[in-house]
Amino acid sequence: MSVEKIDTLVIGGGQAGIAMSEHLSKCNVPHLVLERARIAERWRSERWDSLVANGPAWHDRFPGMEFANADPDAFIDKEAVADYFVAYAQMIDAPVRTGVEVTKVSRNKGQRGFIIETSAGVIEAQNVVAATGPFQRPTIPPIIPESADILQIHSNSYRNPAALPEGAILVVGAGSSGVQIADELARAGRQVYLSVGPHDRPPRSYRGRDFVWWLGVLGKWDMETPGPGTEHVTIAVSGARGGETVDFRRLAEQGITLVGMTSNYQNGVLTFAPDLAKNIAAGDANLMALLDEADAYIARNGIDLPQEPEARILGPDPECLTHPVLELDLAKAGISTIIWATGYAVDYSWLEEIDALDEKGRPKHQRGVSAEPGFYFLGLPWQSRRGSSFIWGVWHDAKHLADRISTQHRYIDYHNANPRPA
Ligand SMILES: Cc1cc2nc3c(=O)[nH]c(=O)nc-3n(C[C@H](O)[C@H](O)[C@H](O)COP(=O)(O)OP(=O)(O)OC[C@H]3O[C@@H](n4cnc5c(N)ncnc54)[C@H](O)[C@@H]3O)c2cc1C
Repeated sequence: MSVEKIDTLVIGGGQAGIAMSEHLSKCNVPHLVLERARIAERWRSERWDSLVANGPAWHDRFPGMEFANADPDAFIDKEAVADYFVAYAQMIDAPVRTGVEVTKVSRNKGQRGFIIETSAGVIEAQNVVAATGPFQRPTIPPIIPESADILQIHSNSYRNPAALPEGAILVVGAGSSGVQIADELARAGRQVYLSVGPHDRPPRSYRGRDFVWWLGVLGKWDMETPGPGTEHVTIAVSGARGGETVDFRRLAEQGITLVGMTSNYQNGVLTFAPDLAKNIAAGDANLMALLDEADAYIARNGIDLPQEPEARILGPDPECLTHPVLELDLAKAGISTIIWATGYAVDYSWLEEIDALDEKGRPKHQRGVSAEPGFYFLGLPWQSRRGSSFIWGVWHDAKHLADRISTQHRYIDYHNANPRPA
């Protein structure tokens, strides 16, 4: 069987794989990108129908190309985001091979590099970049047994309200996905319960600038990876309907019943932690803190932006917040569906004898550089900083890895050019 050889193999043709290709080309590193489906597949087939980008078009893009025919302040729909990456790959002439799945990566024993088994044959590469996504495997906490008589889906397989069976719906998780899905369902006339955990909720915009701008000028996209054990706090933002601040009191006014963290299930009854008021208060405090920092930035830099005191006004606390539901009999409440918007894990089960994972199968790395020489990760949440898993952030991490790969080449070139000392 013939074995194809390439210097650097990039696994995954999402935004991370495309960004990696651009920087490898700039560093003259021969490479190939393998994508098991289509370019930016997850934007096409693992997102709900009405999803738009969380950031405006001027921000959520690579530096090298703007969205064609789009208002820079608009929130681009998911298909157009995927189309953008297809067009970008064409523009940079990225060597992407679609429809090829990597099934195993192992060390090339006794010599540098790796053996990569794929659905279309074997490849040998000196370097491998795993760009298979920050959000690979949907995670559902083991609270309700699969045998329970209720439809349980993850947010990655939710499509639209009409695709769900009749009945009320419980959405678990109040990050960007959970709140947008709950909102869409309520607007479609469905009865909705929303289980709210700890969250940050920045203003969509403040004093005339979008939150992506504020996070940028305040240095928050560049926040470094939190230390091990730091509690992950989800961020609730939405570009839906032109973009609006996520406001749980408004969602309750719309008829959504807010509940605390989903904690337990027994005999058809779900219990919720008594933490709703605490979670909402922490989210409010996070909002106010950002407004304070924005005001201080404006004052410090003498910037002319309009005042916006109304951004600090909180509506009255709804009944579900003052007298929270702590228990729900699912059948009595008419709940037919639970949507778990509870995040994702990674899956590198195709790696064999590669020193790049910890005992829990999570990447062990420093800014994407693993302990295994020649093996790299790209697109991980907090890979180098907060922006790492986002469109614009991954582009910068890819640049770092390409620099690193070409630096390693120089050491190897030196070795090859200088015969073994006596
Ligand atoms: C609901 C949602 C909304 C988001 N909205 C935004 C937003 O508005 N703005 C923003 O900046 N970010 C957003 N993100 C975050 C991030 O931009 C996306 O998750 C994005 O898809 C990550 O791109 P990626 O290339 O790193 O990974 P992915 O898009 O997951 O791409 C990885 C690719 O690898 C392929 N692959 C996996 N395994 C293999 C294999 N073994 N062999 C070959 N190919 C393989 C997959 O098919 C996939 O195409 C959002 C995330 C989610 C979940």
